[in-house]
Amino acid sequence: MNSKVRAACIIVAALSAMAFLLLSFAPHQAVFPSQQRYAAGSEPYHSLTENPTSSDNAQSRSTVASAQSTVKPGLPGADDPGVRHSRLQLIWGLVGAIWQWIVLAAIVFGGLSPRLRDLARRLSGGRLGSLTPYVILLTVLLAVFGAPIAFYREYIIEHEFGLSNQDVWSWLGDSAKGLGVGIVTSLIIFNLIYFLVRRSPRRWWLYGAGVVIAFSVVMATLEPVLVTPLFNKFEPLRDQALKSRILAEADRGGVSVADVLQADMSRQTKAANAYFIGIGPTKRIVLWDTLLDNFSGDEVLTIVAHEMGHQVHNDIWRSIGVGAVFFLVGFYLLYRVLGPLIGRFKDRFGFSRLEDVASLPLALLLVGLLFFAAQPVQNTFSRYIEHEADRYALDLTHQNDVYANALDKLGRVNVSDPDPPAWIEFLFYSHPSLKKRIEFAREYRPWAERSQPASH
Ligand SMILES: [Zn+2]
Repeated sequence: MNSKVRAACIIVAALSAMAFLLLSFAPHQAVFPSQQRYAAGSEPYHSLTENPTSSDNAQSRSTVASAQSTVKPGLPGADDPGVRHSRLQLIWGLVGAIWQWIVLAAIVFGGLSPRLRDLARRLSGGRLGSLTPYVILLTVLLAVFGAPIAFYREYIIEHEFGLSNQDVWSWLGDSAKGLGVGIVTSLIIFNLIYFLVRRSPRRWWLYGAGVVIAFSVVMATLEPVLVTPLFNKFEPLRDQALKSRILAEADRGGVSVADVLQADMSRQTKAANAYFIGIGPTKRIVLWDTLLDNFSGDEVLTIVAHEMGHQVHNDIWRSIGVGAVFFLVGFYLLYRVLGPLIGRFKDRFGFSRLEDVASLPLALLLVGLLFFAAQPVQNTFSRYIEHEADRYALDLTHQNDVYANALDKLGRVNVSDPDPPAWIEFLFYSHPSLKKRIEFAREYRPWAERSQPASH
């Protein structure tokens, strides 16, 4: 190991330790968002609270009542389950991201990438060229190295807080499906991008960003019909009385509401949530069965109104628009950095051209760091559209106290911290803190000033 590699390892280790310490000893009223994604790329759906992931969506008590009995009124302390749960999820989410960077850096700076490429080609018998077997091998390798941290976050922690309904086999099954989805999408994206790199060495970043943006539109459209059904069963809302109330509410708002479906999320979790997903014919509001089981009809109506806000505000498209800017800037930076970096370290890397697929881990490392750096901007935008969806829900329903109570209940059921430190919220939260949302829900009544209070 030469001195430069050693220095790089020390820097990465020091950064990891700093992030870890910073988060472990954050101010004691600290409460962190519990489910954060560190994947590069935008999320093509809008949930009601901090985003759950497809397989690690666990947060909640066995019943709402038991959760309530453990939570004291007022601001939670550091030993509050919500604070501890949110803090653990945030810390281990960060550790997982940093660990993946370390693995990628080790592959690139250790000169392993060309060897892996050759191995992948041999394993496939040479029939598929280099790119396809290499992308599969690298994706599997990253999943295997990431598995212990993923298992700790999604299984151990969630069981510790009484949130997970999964046994090990069910978790493994979901993880394997997630890996399959990852391999398919990686193959499509990287085949296209490396094709562009070979065809247009100076403009690939522009066309590549275009391809990724187009792909995110396709994925946002297909995800609810191709991907989420792999993990859960979706069906039309069973409660017909609730359904007609939702339609009446939509009518009042002049909205032709998207399909409202229920999902058997209780297969994985005791947490409750709802989200809006899809584009055009696939757009839909999804209510978790755990939400329907634990929340009153009035509460569910205010929650559906929040999701209708996302639909009316075209938030999927707005998110894709913001993502498009990130991709354009990100790909341009990648183009400017990758070439010189490979030229400078080609002997160490064992490859000398970007079009060699052995450059993929280096590109992934830089993309990961870039998107991580951009996350506060993305989250600030996300908090803005979430706030606007809350405003829409209140404008439509005028049910201030019901909505405030529903948000409060979600925080308890999902064992999350309602009042994180401002800097944590700024960096990592995709939604405003629950405390802010609840305060807004209680106070926002412009209609009371304009006219008589609403009667419904
Ligand atoms: Zn939302």
